[in-house]
Amino acid sequence: MRERSAAERIRDFQEVPLGYTPEQAIEEAKRCIQCKNPKCVGGCPVEIDITGFLKFVAEGDFASAAEKIKETNALPAICGRVCPQEDQCEKECILGVKGEPVAIGSLERFVADWERESSPRPSTRYARSGHPSPSKMERGMNFDDSRKKGVRIAVVGSGPAGLTCAGDLARLGYQVTIFESLHVTGGVLTYGIPEFRLPKAIVNLEVEYVKSLGVEIKTDMLVGNVYTIEELLKEYKAVFIGSGAGLPKFMNIPGENLDGVYSANEYLFRVNMMKAWQFPEYLTPVKIGKRVAVVGGGNVAMDSARVSLRLGAEEVTILYRRTHDEMPARKEEIERAVEEGIVFKILTLPIKYHANNEGWVSEAECIQMELGEPDSSGRRRPVEIPNSNFKIPIDTVIVAIGNSPNPLVPHRTPNLKTEKWGGVIVTAAGLTSIPGVYAGGDIVRGAATVISAMGDGKVAAKAIHSFLGPTK
Ligand SMILES: Cc1cc2nc3c(=O)[nH]c(=O)nc-3n(C[C@H](O)[C@H](O)[C@H](O)COP(=O)(O)OP(=O)(O)OC[C@H]3O[C@@H](n4cnc5c(N)ncnc54)[C@H](O)[C@@H]3O)c2cc1C
Repeated sequence: MRERSAAERIRDFQEVPLGYTPEQAIEEAKRCIQCKNPKCVGGCPVEIDITGFLKFVAEGDFASAAEKIKETNALPAICGRVCPQEDQCEKECILGVKGEPVAIGSLERFVADWERESSPRPSTRYARSGHPSPSKMERGMNFDDSRKKGVRIAVVGSGPAGLTCAGDLARLGYQVTIFESLHVTGGVLTYGIPEFRLPKAIVNLEVEYVKSLGVEIKTDMLVGNVYTIEELLKEYKAVFIGSGAGLPKFMNIPGENLDGVYSANEYLFRVNMMKAWQFPEYLTPVKIGKRVAVVGGGNVAMDSARVSLRLGAEEVTILYRRTHDEMPARKEEIERAVEEGIVFKILTLPIKYHANNEGWVSEAECIQMELGEPDSSGRRRPVEIPNSNFKIPIDTVIVAIGNSPNPLVPHRTPNLKTEKWGGVIVTAAGLTSIPGVYAGGDIVRGAATVISAMGDGKVAAKAIHSFLGPTK
């Protein structure tokens, strides 16, 4: 896929990849050999009919391709941008055995963008607002007005888990209300992932699409405070909890509470919510200085580093205790970070932060690591090399070593069983320890992925549908 050059893109927040042209999309889709038993579909947690939509793309029928994707996925422009397809559908593509798998994710993105940007079937596909409206099929899917009209379901959180669960239930004919604690919708898609990877306008449009399926969203509603789950259960027949994992982890080392040390969550939240990418039109009080160190090797670390560069930092360094091979971030995002000039100090563990006279962080004291035997995750364990301490000068530290499930709802819900680390315990169908209460996404898994959250939302929607049964 075409991309903006690193030199051009590092000083703004515009998207990096430019997407396929229609000709490129057709050519790429034609590579699909239309397997009789397509394994790629099994690799997709939201069960997109991948060969079906690729066939339409290969024929140049992009409108039908969009409809095909939306049969099971309400957020295709988002998934096409941030899902780790290389570990899911594309990993299963038979062409990948001897060469390159079909670029399913890029094609999904192309189709969603094409549908948004063109208006091929204005009468049916687009509402007057310009938002794609649900197709007749989507509105009609299993819809049984007499049975479900008035059956109300509550969803907590408007991230990918909540949006997917709500959208699927609305398609089934239920009356769904999402309760979102923030003033904005989309969860991490809006407040976490930066504009240059996932433009907010695209998230907003896909949220509008879910609303157009009949979902109501109430913002500024902190469940646990405004209503408890028990109170919701009095008004609603079932509840889905998709409240995510937004509780930052820290290393608990000396100096982590100095001025200039952020959690990645706070940092990215400030940048995204205060529209830092529109500086100087919007003033964003995020002081980062010239030298930024980011601790961690996942997507959140890459995003924090690349945002810092775009906000004017002169030297941005990733500190990671293992090597490139063990980094959990998507490979393409690591490559882009390298191209943009982010410095990677691998096998490096910060152990203490030092302050200047004014109490701001000024140095990171680190220790050199080496790889030992594999640990429980299967990755080789990083081991400290004795007496290898060294210091690097810094103005800002961003700690991006993971997040835990948001604790408020579990704390305020007696009988809701959780793991020791905070994840809500569910059955394979997403049922919690409370009848009628389901959960999925990061509140169950800990910090995971967009598509796994969506898959959980889908599974729970099916389970809620069968829980409510034909006569209720
Ligand atoms: C910076 C960053 C980059 C990422 N990059 C990728 C990527 O490239 N690819 C990928 O697949 N994944 C990525 N992820 C992970 C992915 O975004 C999450 O796994 C996914 O968003 C989880 O979805 P969710 O719906 O479970 O939770 P969330 O997206 O966290 O949504 C939860 C929602 O619930 C709301 N909420 C919380 N508590 C309450 C309450 N008490 N009452 C009401 N509402 C509440 C929150 O405000 C939020 O809107 C990234 C995460 C981050 C932070």
